[in-house]
Amino acid sequence: MNKQKRIEFFARLRAHNPRPTTELNYASPFELLVAVILSAQATDKGVNKATDGLFRVAPTPRAMLALGEEGLKAHIKTIGLFNAKARNIIKTCRILVDSYGGQVPAQRRELESLPGVGRKTANVILNTAFGEPTIAVDTHLFRVANRTGLAPGKTPLAVEKRLLKVVPEAFRQDAHHWLILHGRYVCTARRPRCGACLVADLCEYGYKETSPAGTPAAARMVAAE
Ligand code: SF4
Repeated sequence: MNKQKRIEFFARLRAHNPRPTTELNYASPFELLVAVILSAQATDKGVNKATDGLFRVAPTPRAMLALGEEGLKAHIKTIGLFNAKARNIIKTCRILVDSYGGQVPAQRRELESLPGVGRKTANVILNTAFGEPTIAVDTHLFRVANRTGLAPGKTPLAVEKRLLKVVPEAFRQDAHHWLILHGRYVCTARRPRCGACLVADLCEYGYKETSPAGTPAAARMVAAE
């Protein structure tokens, strides 16, 4: 996808949703960190349901340690892999209290050293809690970047590096959320909704799902202009 198309691509996503953000509920960097750890292989909706009660009793690392691993498990047992996630969250809270004064560090290296926090989670925290123009590549974003031709790559890291190069600076801060939301609700894994897609005429995917008339709706609209 050339530069002019990339600018148009993000301009349309921005016009549609000027202030995109995460669908996880949180009120502090710590709550966001816990929510993102819990969200691995789980839906944001399921995580929000669990954290609604959890954050009322444990909104800080110290309160989480006081709640304890078993207490934490009782809140998150509806979420997949909850045993391992509870273990990691408690270990992370111990490190936050002992080494960072109970605060979530704002540096990648420190974040990635926390149990349960990999590059993707660190990118979400840096972007959403600390306002850095990082791009976390999850399954949705990986699919959208490859399908559209925006930033093809064989691994999430390759896609992330390419996106950081090709996303115009003006859109970099919010690119992560626009692409995730686009992948979650429009460019879905099994049946992408090409007929309702804002960027169908810019997208380079060769197997677009078409409307009954045989032409993606957005492309028909452009052709009619
Ligand atoms: S046209 Fe289809 S494949 Fe391309 S971005 Fe839109 S939904 Fe995805």
